Amino acid sequence: MIEYAVVGSGIGGSSIAAYLDAKGYETVLFEKEPYLGGCSSTFIHKGYRYNTGATTLAGYQEGHIVKNIFDEIGFKPELIATDPSIIIIQNGKRTPRYQKLEKFLEAVEHNYPHPKNREFWRLVYDIGQEFYAMHGQYYATSSRLKKYLSMASFFPLLFKFQRYLRINTLDFIKDFYGEISKEYMQFLESQVLIVAQAKLKEVNFFTAALSLGYTFNETHYVIGGMGKLFDGMTASMKQVRRKTQITTIESLDEHFVLHTNNECIEAKNIILNSTIYQSGKLFRNEKIKNYYKRYEKLNNYQSSFMLYMTIKSNKKFEHHYQLIEDKVFPHTLSNALFVSFSDESDNVISPQGCYSVTASIHTDLRWWENKADYRQKKEELEGILLKSVCDILDIKKEEIVHHMAASPKTFQRYINRSQLGGNAITMKNFLPKLPGNDTPIDGIYHVGDTVYAAQGWPGVMLGVDNLRRLLHV
Ligand SMILES: Cc1cc2nc3c(=O)[nH]c(=O)nc-3n(C[C@H](O)[C@H](O)[C@H](O)COP(=O)(O)OP(=O)(O)OC[C@H]3O[C@@H](n4cnc5c(N)ncnc54)[C@H](O)[C@@H]3O)c2cc1C
Repeated sequence: MIEYAVVGSGIGGSSIAAYLDAKGYETVLFEKEPYLGGCSSTFIHKGYRYNTGATTLAGYQEGHIVKNIFDEIGFKPELIATDPSIIIIQNGKRTPRYQKLEKFLEAVEHNYPHPKNREFWRLVYDIGQEFYAMHGQYYATSSRLKKYLSMASFFPLLFKFQRYLRINTLDFIKDFYGEISKEYMQFLESQVLIVAQAKLKEVNFFTAALSLGYTFNETHYVIGGMGKLFDGMTASMKQVRRKTQITTIESLDEHFVLHTNNECIEAKNIILNSTIYQSGKLFRNEKIKNYYKRYEKLNNYQSSFMLYMTIKSNKKFEHHYQLIEDKVFPHTLSNALFVSFSDESDNVISPQGCYSVTASIHTDLRWWENKADYRQKKEELEGILLKSVCDILDIKKEEIVHHMAASPKTFQRYINRSQLGGNAITMKNFLPKLPGNDTPIDGIYHVGDTVYAAQGWPGVMLGVDNLRRLLHV
């Protein structure tokens, strides 16, 4: 019998599966799609290759979580360091997010001058550095006692950052800066949204500081597309089952039976990388279903609308842009678009002379459920976003070789989830309310961006690290 069946090959599933396999446990990784990586995969459509969602690798740095886990698996990715990590464009002003604080401050001061800028960004920087230097926290949820004991491991963190944990970021900014322009507020708002997945008024300043400050750490471009990370991580695994969807899971006395459309597989333990909102559907057992029901209220129905483009151009583009417009785009939750370009030397993801472009914006998945106007809305938004990207980045119509869009419905069809970006790290959704990597049901575990710790490479990998600690592996 298999020791660990891992369902789903996103960041969480692939990394825990590769880790367990490397440690000698019999592990099988199941993925519904032909491509590994879920939101962070790379897919091919009509011969064109695109990153599905994630485009930036954060946390691959000495002493940081992603590098630690890759090292344990024995995987060394092919990367290009990205500095500046993002160019933020707002009203024609370009603000590069340089890794060095002083260099970035110069750009901010030029575009959004304020006497308190230095003090503000120094604080953001210091909170990040102090946080990444802290170790020892873990989160267990399999019993109330274990949960309370694990919460004690956060006391040093809570004690150190208590001032910033209690206050929402909007109030903090008003207290700190006094009045600031609407433009600068939007600049801050849109950067927090892409990391914390929530608005300034919903998140405490500690979360906002980590979100605003992640670019002070190393960020990387992945050569060949993000999907290469998953192929690399799982390369020496003995059992990776692509195009294999787990449809139901039976819980028996001492083990589980996983069903696909044409076979049954027995496993002692299961690690689910499906979202906390979808996982309950895999079981018939009422006790297990009830466990998942209690987390339904965390679902914020937030998702992404995507624009994928291949462009042939002699112009030089940076890897990542955040384009901030004045008004919220129709059918979306935001006025900011995140746009990523492949590296001009990367001929794996895009033919020579071409760029593969992935652009995303926040939306509400419920707005895409009505069949009657779905097509029309999708085409309308695709056109609006295409125009915005082309106008701001000066891309001519004749340079566009191919483009297409994806809605929350598209994500549901391919990777079995329409809620994207994980659980927003709001003041309401903080520990101890967050689902854990262990559960009260023996043998069922979770990894991914809807359980501890958070979304994105570093957030999901913190959960993987937590799980290996809880499993004592
Ligand atoms: C538009 C967008 C842009 C982003 N940009 C970045 C970025 O630049 N950098 C960053 O760090 N993060 C980014 N993120 C966040 C990051 O991509 C996600 O938090 C992360 O990829 C989620 O990983 P996960 O482990 O939760 O797995 P998921 O990505 O949710 O993958 C789960 C996998 O499980 C499979 N699966 C589900 N159910 C079954 C089943 N029953 N049987 C078999 N397989 C199943 C799915 O097909 C899928 O492949 C972005 C997210 C989005 C949506």
